[in-house]
Amino acid sequence: MPSVAPPPFPPSQQAPLPPPIRITRTKTPTGGILLGKYQLGRLLGHGSFAKVHEATSIDDSSNVVAIKIIDKTKTVDAAMEPRIISEVSAMRLLQHHPNILKIHEVMATRTKIYLVMEFASGGELFAKLLRRGKLTETTARKYFTQLVSALHFCHQNGVAHRDVKPQNILLDQNGILKVSDFGLSALPEHLNNGFLHTACGTPVYAAPEVLRGKGYDGSKADAWSCGVILFVLLAGKLPFDDSNLVGMYKKIHRSEFEFPTWISNPAKAIIRQLLDPNPDTRMSLMKVMETPWLKRSLAAYASSNKKQDSLLHGRKLKHEMVCNGVNAFDIISLSSGLDLSGLFEGGNEVCRKEKRYTTTMELEGVMERVKETGERLGYRVEKGKRGVLGLGKGRVVLTVEGVEIAELFVLVEVKVVEGTAELEEGQWLDLEAGIGDIFVS
Ligand code: ADP
Ligand code: MG
Repeated sequence: MPSVAPPPFPPSQQAPLPPPIRITRTKTPTGGILLGKYQLGRLLGHGSFAKVHEATSIDDSSNVVAIKIIDKTKTVDAAMEPRIISEVSAMRLLQHHPNILKIHEVMATRTKIYLVMEFASGGELFAKLLRRGKLTETTARKYFTQLVSALHFCHQNGVAHRDVKPQNILLDQNGILKVSDFGLSALPEHLNNGFLHTACGTPVYAAPEVLRGKGYDGSKADAWSCGVILFVLLAGKLPFDDSNLVGMYKKIHRSEFEFPTWISNPAKAIIRQLLDPNPDTRMSLMKVMETPWLKRSLAAYASSNKKQDSLLHGRKLKHEMVCNGVNAFDIISLSSGLDLSGLFEGGNEVCRKEKRYTTTMELEGVMERVKETGERLGYRVEKGKRGVLGLGKGRVVLTVEGVEIAELFVLVEVKVVEGTAELEEGQWLDLEAGIGDIFVS
């Protein structure tokens, strides 16, 4: 580790996290909600797995925390448990780094798990960016330095984040960057069966090898995501942007993007090397930290963690970053194993109507197997043009479209075109399980 980086804290120095404290949920005389010693406040945000609320300690009102609430009853089976455990243990292991969101304690009731975390009152870094536009190179570098420092620290401790994206980059009251949501970080690579993903959103931060669905090195995938983030901070727009998802996948695979004129050559060189589609030759975060462009900033950062000035300026981000009123950064988990959105009340509706999968098979083989699966499950199957099938059963009509993105890499989109209301959860799950089976190599 370079001497300029914040000091590492070996995992051996970490005390194991105590078991969840059993608490009761009660009401205050004014109707507020009490969770153990915390009074629950406003909703800060929600991801695909949980809601996050602000909360105040009843002993000390200046002690403000964020509480992540995970509803056990809304998970169909025990699949959620490992994710929660991995989130907690990864955060616990890494929480001494100044740019990693701390977790103070874990509480539980019969039906819910509460993670009491450090409150990042500055909110999401990218919410700021969306409001104010691109950053100056100095400010972008300051944030990027903190991000790289945190992730490099994780990698040194054997943990890759794997879900580096804007919603997981928060700021505290002093504008210090905090990486959050280690929910995916410690998961085993059990998803290397050639059928890795369902994606409801746009996979704009994911490395090509992650999209390809082959086993991948988490720290290299993190490095790619950092490249995308640095580009966004400096350019005020996404590097791989296409109204068409297939187009976007292609661009990501070829690392096809254009720099705006104002980005400096040293910054361009780093972005280019991080956005190397080949993970073997991609620049590591360790190497990024050794570049003169970052080294000075790291030194300054290590010597003072002073309050950062808000130097946000410039034009607004491109309109495309906000699509259909939904933040275009709102990427769902790319792993089919973790796409639990359908299991939650008020989950993402889009996920119920369309899903995308990637596989490393020939297009013809994929379509043939989709046809067989559909027929086996009692659907009428009609062939359309190459790579297109229509599946009908009762009032439910689905289209399945496969597109070759690259050699042995096919994106399959399954859309419910009619009968969304009639499509039962079980029916969708059967189909998914059936199709999933096809892709197991
Ligand atoms: P999920 O794991 O379900 O995706 P997250 O932990 O990412 O949930 O939290 C969802 C959102 O809540 C974040 O994008 C952020 O806006 C907000 N949030 C999460 N943790 C905090 C925190 N510690 N302080 C402030 N806001 C937070
Ligand atoms: Mg999240």
